Amino acid sequence: MGTQYTRTYWEALLASLRLEGRHFIDGAHRPSRSGLTITRPRPMDGAAGPVLARGDAADVDAAVAAARAAFASGVWRHKEPGDKKKIMLEWAGLIRAHGEELAMLETIDVGKPVTASLNVDVRLCADGIQYYGEMVDKMYDEIAPTGPKARALVRKVPLGVVGAITPWNYPMIIDAWKLGPAIAAGNSVVLKPAEQSSLTAIRLAELAVEAGLPAGVFNVVTGYGEETGKPLALHMDVDMIAFTGSTEVGKLIMGYAAQSNVKRVALELGGKSPLVVFEDADLDAAASAAAWGCFYNSGETCHASTRLIVQRSVQEALVSKIEAVAKNDIVLAHPLDPSAQIGALIEETHMEKVLSMIAAGEQEGARRAFGAERVLAETGGCYISPGVFIDMTNDMSLARQEIFGPVLAAIPFDTEEEALTIVNDTVYGLAGAVFTKDMDRAHRFSEAIHAGTVWINTYDMATFATPFGGFKQSGFGRDRSVHAIDKYCDYKTIWQQFG
Ligand code: NAD
Repeated sequence: MGTQYTRTYWEALLASLRLEGRHFIDGAHRPSRSGLTITRPRPMDGAAGPVLARGDAADVDAAVAAARAAFASGVWRHKEPGDKKKIMLEWAGLIRAHGEELAMLETIDVGKPVTASLNVDVRLCADGIQYYGEMVDKMYDEIAPTGPKARALVRKVPLGVVGAITPWNYPMIIDAWKLGPAIAAGNSVVLKPAEQSSLTAIRLAELAVEAGLPAGVFNVVTGYGEETGKPLALHMDVDMIAFTGSTEVGKLIMGYAAQSNVKRVALELGGKSPLVVFEDADLDAAASAAAWGCFYNSGETCHASTRLIVQRSVQEALVSKIEAVAKNDIVLAHPLDPSAQIGALIEETHMEKVLSMIAAGEQEGARRAFGAERVLAETGGCYISPGVFIDMTNDMSLARQEIFGPVLAAIPFDTEEEALTIVNDTVYGLAGAVFTKDMDRAHRFSEAIHAGTVWINTYDMATFATPFGGFKQSGFGRDRSVHAIDKYCDYKTIWQQFG
């Protein structure tokens, strides 16, 4: 019999945890050199959250120096591939073994339901480390075609020190998307998690060392973006920044790279993804996909299906089915309640921003079908109910801006041509979907949607085997899949002339 997860069980775990919020540098916890700390209220109930080290350039320097020393010594990159694989698999195993604790840390920081943290975030984090661990002893280099008088080796070599800067919406998963391939390729990493969500990053680093990863290979520096992320991205001894976050900050990261050492950057940025429904579609399937695609994680998902582009004749029927899914199937509740499927938003300022975007949208004429209101205010937490606005046009702010809340904009169309124009009329290109029973149209349309991932008659299906990332201002570079390794390597040619 597995554990019976009850609210009491999770509350007891919460009460028993000691929260570690210091940097993790060269295999040990360190306070900030300045002595400064950060605290913030917990999104689930407004109670005092963890105390974090407030890093600055001095802490970043220490972490980068540790990462560089580990890389230069070869203590990790020159280890036998089979031994590296064992360590990464052990690390994945420890993540699973500490799953409940990691899930609780994620929920304390982010306010998502602990059941989701355990069943989705912890699982996918461990799977990510395992996926890349399994690749370590299966990566070959090349020999280029030359004449018989020469041999040219094309070696795939690690870059050196990778800086990873990550957001707060899926901290553990996105950290694993960077850490897995970067470390499997032989690099050292300095991770700067979002200031809202650093607890799991620190715990992942502790578990990595426990699994046998040498000190200095994986370091964590916590703090604000301007004070910690910026010096990391400007650092002259960092070879690459792997960034996930907003398009606005992604543009700054490109600038920092240009102003410093022309380090390479990979950017996973924002989105405003379309889900297109034709009148011949299975409306129940489309409603379920649209609701879960937009409302899961309280809408705080980069590839959330936030634009519902729907044939006018079925808009009303589809929206009432979405309302039924939102109200009957998707349980919004306190994150420690095991039945909760969506929980709190990340913080009060973000909740206020979402509510003010909704109000501005209504001022412009957006018509609310249901929801999109503050709820559970008596808990002291930050909760907004899933909601839909209908009869929108694609020029309205709710249809254009990334809201990062549970708000769906329904935009009706009459012809396929019109639908396609609306779909691609966005600065983003992260994901999209088309629902139709006409397979010719499904293929035509999926080819024409300008986005990194397009689903047909489903939404948000993926495995580690499929790359993830965006076109246009949703960024470039891909997380997940074997291709992610390439971002963290460079090609080096060694030419040997005979005779
Ligand atoms: P954000 O851009 O505000 O912050 C992301 C990270 O950058 C944080 O660690 C932050 O501290 C840091 N940062 C902020 N300012 C910085 C600066 N000047 N220099 C260096 N670092 C800085 O994003 P967020 O609010 O944490 O996350 C939400 C955004 O992330 C949304 O736009 C969402 O679409 C995007 N996102 C994208 C993906 C993807 O894979 N494409 C995945 C998740 C989230």
